[in-house]
Amino acid sequence: MKIIDCHIHCSESNQDALVGFARANGLKYNLGELLTMMEDYNVSSGLLLSPPKTNGKPVPNKEILRLCRKSKGKLFPIVTVEPSSSAVSECLELAKKNKGYTKGFKILLGYFPVYPAHKVYSRIYDYAESTDLPVMFHTGDTASKTASLEHANPLSLDVLANKRQSLKIVACHFGNPWFHETAELLYKHPNVYADISGLFAVGAKYSNQYLKYLARAVSEAIYFVGSAEKIIFGTDYPVERYSDAIRFTKSLQLEQDDIGKIFSENAKKVFQL
Ligand SMILES: [Zn+2]
Repeated sequence: MKIIDCHIHCSESNQDALVGFARANGLKYNLGELLTMMEDYNVSSGLLLSPPKTNGKPVPNKEILRLCRKSKGKLFPIVTVEPSSSAVSECLELAKKNKGYTKGFKILLGYFPVYPAHKVYSRIYDYAESTDLPVMFHTGDTASKTASLEHANPLSLDVLANKRQSLKIVACHFGNPWFHETAELLYKHPNVYADISGLFAVGAKYSNQYLKYLARAVSEAIYFVGSAEKIIFGTDYPVERYSDAIRFTKSLQLEQDDIGKIFSENAKKVFQL
């Protein structure tokens, strides 16, 4: 089965905050390992997103572009946008300079107390709409204990989706644990999608039971939406290992052709891969 991974992190920064996840998963967490694993698990391409640093700032987008170039056609950049006018200008410049190569934008809801419909992001949305590039939003549980759950709640995307009906919006992590809220967004808005990346970490006391609960919750959310056409596979590497993420996706209680759509066909369409 062909796979596209729409949500990967990697950097060469010694301040990368995802190193703890990598260690817990027994991963080296570097570009070489990532490309080898993609080969091993039949992952034809992936989208690379900036990981957070220990100081809370994302690794610079230029670093993400550099790693993508090194991957020789395997990885494509997603540009992470912070909520400031200067960051928006920089991101737009980078996206325009790398037009066709950049596959979308990412906004970190919850890590900044800014709602997605805030005017600071307007120029990103204008450009994304005009080029048909999706904007991915972190939704749901945050890795930081001081982040704002109110802003990370996927329902905060409803106002934006109402205003911008031709903007492709991707709710990352299916809004975990707000699966129902995310399902309603997907049901209501033709332009809202969800990825299933980064839903679990290994090693907790009830890991096995949690995985079963998750498979049931995500499957039921998809029943509510009524189709799997807008659900996209991702690992959130190094948060999930490929072996675990693929096993989890196969465990969804859906028809086989829908599993295939989630693994690659939907991402191909949404991100123009
Ligand atoms: Zn992520």
